[in-house]
Amino acid sequence: AKAEGRGNFKYFSEDLTQAALRRLNLESLLRRALRHQELLVYYQPQVDISTGRIIGAEALLRWHHAQEGMIPPSQFIPVAEEIGLIADIGEWVLTQVCRQGRCWLDAGLPPIKLAVNLSPHQLRHGDIAASIDAILSQTGFPPEFLELELTESALMERETEVVLVLCQLRALGVRIAIDDFGTGYSSLAYLKHFPLDVLKIDKTFIDDIPQLEDDKEIASAIIGMGHTLRLQVLAEGVETQEQLDFLQEHGCDFYQGYLKSPALPASDFAALLRSQF
Ligand code: C2E
Ligand code: CA
Ligand code: CA
Ligand code: CA
Repeated sequence: AKAEGRGNFKYFSEDLTQAALRRLNLESLLRRALRHQELLVYYQPQVDISTGRIIGAEALLRWHHAQEGMIPPSQFIPVAEEIGLIADIGEWVLTQVCRQGRCWLDAGLPPIKLAVNLSPHQLRHGDIAASIDAILSQTGFPPEFLELELTESALMERETEVVLVLCQLRALGVRIAIDDFGTGYSSLAYLKHFPLDVLKIDKTFIDDIPQLEDDKEIASAIIGMGHTLRLQVLAEGVETQEQLDFLQEHGCDFYQGYLKSPALPASDFAALLRSQF
């Protein structure tokens, strides 16, 4: 297939037709999944490095398809973004998480923060602050326990508009985290422009610790400069004790990763949380 830019195809080849059909199929499947509750929210613990305690969780979407089994978000989120379904899905996730968080508080579980991923599309279209405000009051979930994760690249897209939306969100009392930090091209100084609370160091910088000197230096530089900007720093994708030891030595605040636990169904997460108290 020869393609010259978006929607400017020289030849409409067999594989393009196939791809279009697959896309169409996925689109209707995804709409149905949302309606029929085939989507689930899993929770991955976030741990305080100095105490070893769970202080939060990241909500991660799962699609349990009757025939195909678990379909990972990397396969369906990009499609949901393209077909404009991410706004509905995103709102569903936020509602689900705030409802769950309220339930856990009512059940006497220790208060923890719950982090939800926002797609750049959700920032650009509609009034995200108004819809989050509505969800918070409907569910009665305290705003200070909700954290919104935005990727570094989402922040870089339309800086002035994004800053405005983030200020509106902050005014609701929710916290903001920058996700996948280090994978974009923004400098740490650039982050000063945004109202942020947490910096999440991307997994790719953690993977080769302690073997790669460069990555160790990058990670410790991000921790140091994050703290200079008065942000809390969380390391993603921590899988080994050596990585955790390194992060502890360098004053990283929190971590998330298979070393503690993968994302769990809500009830398993609640059991784990309960077991630490
Ligand atoms: P992310 O936000 O960077 O989430 C972290 C990903 O790393 C998750 O993959 C998580 O399961 C995985 N992970 C965590 N610890 C480890 C580890 O120690 N080792 C390894 N190998 N992986 C680890 P997951 O759940 O497959 O999600 C992939 C991406 O899909 C997320 O990346 C996020 O960008 C997107 N996503 C997931 N849920 C949502 C959602 O509700 N809304 C939006 N907009 N995007 C979502
Ligand atoms: Ca995330
Ligand atoms: Ca991430
Ligand atoms: Ca990622």
